[in-house]
Amino acid sequence: MEKNYYVCTGCGLLCDDIEVESEKDIINKVYTACRVGVAHMKEGKEEATFLVDNKPVDEAKAINEAASILKNAKNPLIFGLGTSTNEAQKLAIELAKKINATLDDTSSYCLGSVVEAVVNNKVKTCTLDDVRNKGDVVIFWGSDPADSHPRHLSKHSYFPRGKEKQRGWEEDRTAIAIDIRKSHTAKICGNYFFQIPQGGDAEFIDALIAGLSGKLPKTSYNYPPKKILELTNILKGAKFGIVFVGLGLVYSLENLEPLLRLMKALNEKANFHLVPMVGHYNMRGFNENLFAETGYVNSVKFENGIVKHGPEFSTVESIKAKTVDAALIIGSDPLSSLPRSIAKNLLGIPVILLDPCKTLTSKNAKVYINTAISGVESGGSATRMDGILVNFKPIVETKHPSDETVLMKIMEAL
Ligand code: SF4
Repeated sequence: MEKNYYVCTGCGLLCDDIEVESEKDIINKVYTACRVGVAHMKEGKEEATFLVDNKPVDEAKAINEAASILKNAKNPLIFGLGTSTNEAQKLAIELAKKINATLDDTSSYCLGSVVEAVVNNKVKTCTLDDVRNKGDVVIFWGSDPADSHPRHLSKHSYFPRGKEKQRGWEEDRTAIAIDIRKSHTAKICGNYFFQIPQGGDAEFIDALIAGLSGKLPKTSYNYPPKKILELTNILKGAKFGIVFVGLGLVYSLENLEPLLRLMKALNEKANFHLVPMVGHYNMRGFNENLFAETGYVNSVKFENGIVKHGPEFSTVESIKAKTVDAALIIGSDPLSSLPRSIAKNLLGIPVILLDPCKTLTSKNAKVYINTAISGVESGGSATRMDGILVNFKPIVETKHPSDETVLMKIMEAL
């Protein structure tokens, strides 16, 4: 009997080899997925919920209320979408254009700058399949996939036998972790863990560049030059190297200039690629869809056919400066995740939330629509962390509407 494989939308890896045992609307067993994926897929859902002022209403009332909030707003914010399909994201961009909204996702305060460098070809990148088949030197910098993307090392970056890497991790690959703490990934890297002090990344980059060009590597925190030179010797020998960039590195740098300089220096001596460790399953999709439409990956404001871009149009800055007067949030919980001093401003404006989960933001939303979990209860497409398009179908039936359906209905009601 032919096996049915599903895609897990639990993280940016979008594993496409998942087998499940399911009935009409319930998943009984999940095979192949990691624990995060199993929990994500087996997340229990109650009846469909439409709330206005925390009181149950029918779908039409919730949609009309949402449309009326957006119609009356002078500068609405549309935010989230990292766990929505490409199709929903494209609709949200259309909606933002229609209502002259500010539009942003979580990438403006995480890996957006790295994705921006990749989509603008400022740095060489590759796919996870390339990594599995050819990767010989793999660097995890400020990233800990053993926790954040649990199948990363086993499926793609370290343990598997690839087409040109048949001897796998034992002989064919070197995994290196550069981090401020001994993460689970760093433990797997063993002697190739380079622990640096908090905020010490830019100096470590300069030291590596010095080492690569035969100079004595120095840091103000006296990292042993001999250890840095051992590392640069490994890097120089890479036939297919990859730097998996995580938030730890991005938050430590003022901007990406040092990292781009390092990638250039690495490629003068060897062959290196950069892949952002995108967490949300379709953050990269949002960045690419918005880039295709506007030339920017996040933080835009539409104004009568003109696109403005800048940090002032990021979620954090626009909420902090109170420049937005309503918010449509899709698949995000800013009241829990943003600093309280900023998030509290959301309490002063009407919030519409589309989310499969009940959260602090849903409790405080003017309109809350309990949407389907995409990849589990609704299908579509998404862009994997390495830019590969992945199509997926729903596993179970649901009464919950998808983000796409709700956005379409709001557009029609405007
Ligand atoms: S690694 Fe990510 S995509 Fe793969 S099964 Fe785990 S949560 Fe799902």
